[in-house]
This record gives sequence, structure tokens and C-alpha cells, in this order.
Amino acid sequence: MIYDLHTHSNASDGILSPVALVMRARQRGVTHLALTDHDTVQGLQSAREQAEIEGITLINGIEFSCLWAGRGIHVVGLNVDVSCAALCNAITTQLEARDARAEEIGRRLEKAGIPQALEGARRLACDAVLGRPHFARYLVEKGFVSNINAAFKQYLGAGKPGDIKHRWPDIASMVAAIRSAGGVPVIAHPAKYELTRTKLRELLGEFKEAGGLALEVVSGQQAKNETENLAAIAAQFDLYASCGSDFHVPDQPWQELGSFTPLPPTCRPVWRLWH
Ligand SMILES: [Zn+2]
Ligand SMILES: [Zn+2]
Repeated sequence: MIYDLHTHSNASDGILSPVALVMRARQRGVTHLALTDHDTVQGLQSAREQAEIEGITLINGIEFSCLWAGRGIHVVGLNVDVSCAALCNAITTQLEARDARAEEIGRRLEKAGIPQALEGARRLACDAVLGRPHFARYLVEKGFVSNINAAFKQYLGAGKPGDIKHRWPDIASMVAAIRSAGGVPVIAHPAKYELTRTKLRELLGEFKEAGGLALEVVSGQQAKNETENLAAIAAQFDLYASCGSDFHVPDQPWQELGSFTPLPPTCRPVWRLWH
């Protein structure tokens, strides 16, 4: 059995539709798939229908952006009840925060000589969660830059006109929303935040106190010693262990569906919480 418990579709910033994502997961041998789009559960219905056709198990998921000690931290919610009112409220709050930020980015780009950026980004996002990648695509489409990387370098990245900080909710409120929905809160890709060991321990202490239950011990292809370190920390904090690719785009081998080493045998796999 292969569990991939962290993936994105074009309902947020992934490339594949939920249906295409499920098909690719099955082709790559994944037996249990969680779709964890940023701040939305829009893709789950069609993913579920396709998972039934493909004969794989779909786990309802979401990935929330939160703030902890001034940093952006991602918390994945697994096995959530999407009809839960507290979860729906949390999603609405996130989307409003994203919209406010997008409007500010649009205003700043306008001042920097890019007209209609908000409208353009909205059009490119369709029903997906609006984010900086859509502004980047608009800048490429209109010929202001030649590619996505250049869009971030010149307009959207750190210190540039479109670099507007998110005002995300705090981690405890997002953990509470996931728990209300009967789900399992997981700290996503802990190595990505570049925290010192002390800071990571602080984060996990507060996360646990807020009701957090698991740590993503394996995130895509990572070094063996990193996996061992994270497995040890999960054990220290008595957290369950999760694993996932954080798949967004095909043909990036380090973030490919089902393509990572299994959890170390010392870990308590997170799926025990719902089996
Ligand atoms: Zn993330
Ligand atoms: Zn992710």
C-alpha cells in the first residue's frame, strides 16, 4: 500500500484537474490519496468520483496557511468532514484574506504600470484559489516579462511591488477548525520553514497544545538523515507521522505522486487514526 497524503490540483495551485490527479496517482501505484488543496475543498467531489472508478481510496484533505511567531506555517487537515460548519467558516476566512491581498497586489501593480492585473489574475484563476502564480501568468501573458520566474523576480517576489504579506489566522484556530471537522491536523513539510531545532520544538509544543496530532515526517524526496531526525522529533512529541509528495506539477521527480521513501518503521502512521 502506498499512501500519498499531500497533493494539489488545479482547485488551488496545482496543474492537473482533480480527475487527472487521481488517474496519475493510480498509474503511479498510490493506493490511498489525500487531495490537500490550499484553503479549499472544491476539488474533492470530482476526485472522489474518479477514485471510485480507479479503485483507490480518497481521503478528504485541505492545506491551511497559518501564522506562527511571525512566520507562515502550513497545516494539513486529513480525513475532514467537509460539511462541518467550523471548517467552512475557516475556509471563508482564508478566502477573504486571500482576496484582500489580491486586491492590494492589483493596486500596487497598477501603480507600477501594469493595468488590469487583478482582473487578469482572476480570469486566469477561474474557480481556483487566487494567488501570486496567477498574477505571474498574467504578467507573462501581457508580455511584461518573458517567464514566470522573471515575474516573481521583477514584480512579485521579496521587496517587489506585489510582495504583500498575508495576514493569515493563527495556527491554533486552524487546528481547532480541523479538529471540529473530525480531521487530523498535520504540520506540513517541517523542513521548509528553515527553523532551528529549538524553534521547531517550540512550534510542535504549541501545535500539540492546540490539538495538533501529526507531523509530516516524509515530504517528497528528502535526505535519509532528515527523515530520521523528523521521525525522532515526532516520537518525542508523541505525534503521529504523515507522508506525502506535495505534488503540484508533473515531471518534477522530487515531488512526484507516491515517489518517496516509506515512513520509518518506528513511526506511528497517521492513517491509524481513521482506520
Ligand atoms: Zn505547503
Ligand atoms: Zn502543499
